Amino acid sequence: MSRAYNFCAGPATLPEQVLLQARDEMLDWRGTGMSVMEMSHRSDEFVEIAETAEQDVRDLAGISDDYAVLFMQGGASSQFATVPLNLLGNSASADYVNTGIWSEKAIAEARRYGDVNVVASSAGCGFTTVPDQTGWKTRADAAYLHYTPNETIGGLEFDFVPDSGKVPLVADMSSSMLSCPVDVSKFGLIYAGAQKNIGPSGLVVVIVRKDLLGKAHVKIPTMMNYQVMADNASMFNTPATYSWYLTGLVFKWLKDQGGVSAIGELNARKAKKLYHFIDTNPLYSNPIDPRFRSRMNVPFILADEALNSAFLKGADERQLLNLKGHRSVGGMRASIYNAMPEAGVDALIFYMAEFAKERG
Ligand SMILES: *Cc1c(COP(=O)(O)O)cnc(C)c1O
Repeated sequence: MSRAYNFCAGPATLPEQVLLQARDEMLDWRGTGMSVMEMSHRSDEFVEIAETAEQDVRDLAGISDDYAVLFMQGGASSQFATVPLNLLGNSASADYVNTGIWSEKAIAEARRYGDVNVVASSAGCGFTTVPDQTGWKTRADAAYLHYTPNETIGGLEFDFVPDSGKVPLVADMSSSMLSCPVDVSKFGLIYAGAQKNIGPSGLVVVIVRKDLLGKAHVKIPTMMNYQVMADNASMFNTPATYSWYLTGLVFKWLKDQGGVSAIGELNARKAKKLYHFIDTNPLYSNPIDPRFRSRMNVPFILADEALNSAFLKGADERQLLNLKGHRSVGGMRASIYNAMPEAGVDALIFYMAEFAKERG
């Protein structure tokens, strides 16, 4: 059985080279006679793996020494609480932009810890666009401004970095991390669950400006305290070692691809092709404002919903997997992260055209 093209939103496809290397190193990592999974996280070997991964992501994203890079657990969802518990400080209020389901989840969780001000929302139009920043009701005394650069479920992506003035900007980059160049210096904090663009689940990478450390709520669980994590090189307890290792392999792979600018160009080309096909074939459509269409997650619907199951069955037969849309949205969704080769997008378009010809 050959490898399928897996369009799952997450856990998502990983680069084949990474999996092959992990296979080769599975039983015996570089002559140690052990799998990485079996190593002490305090061993020289694992510390080297961990430090190399950190250095590689620093190189890839251009992260300066002003920032700590943390490899935490609990996925991006745990950060919905971890961020306010660390950053609210005494101001007890934070600004949030609502552009979809992941924004809403972040907002709901933050409301448990402080006063959340939703400065702008595109809920009224079904999250098909990003509200223009000129109308945002931001507060100069907010502890931070949170937004979701790419809404994985809705397929909506910011094409700009919001200007938050002196207020630290916080971004949930779970589904867009390292998919194109980003100026990290504009952010106070970036977090990303690994299982979309950078590795397997179980890990969340947090990039936090060091001056934001040390303001945590007194009753914050120790495991959530960024300062504690930074002081202990993310090894206050046993980290998700194997996920960390695999994520490090993905970073190396990304460097081999030419880094984020090269992969960014490829991602733009893949998305452009797929949207162009959707826009020009009458069977398919995408509801998102073209300016803000996600390069990573491409939702589309069939003009006749009765064809959905036949479409998915035919796709499965061609090893084009996990195209079913999120249960809250319906229709289809093709997630085309960094590790989805252009040939996968070509195969999908080929199948969509064939299906439209036969059934459309
Ligand atoms: C997947 C996702 C999450 C949730 O990630 P978990 O690791 O499952 O908690 C949060 N935000 C965004 C934007 C996502 O795509």
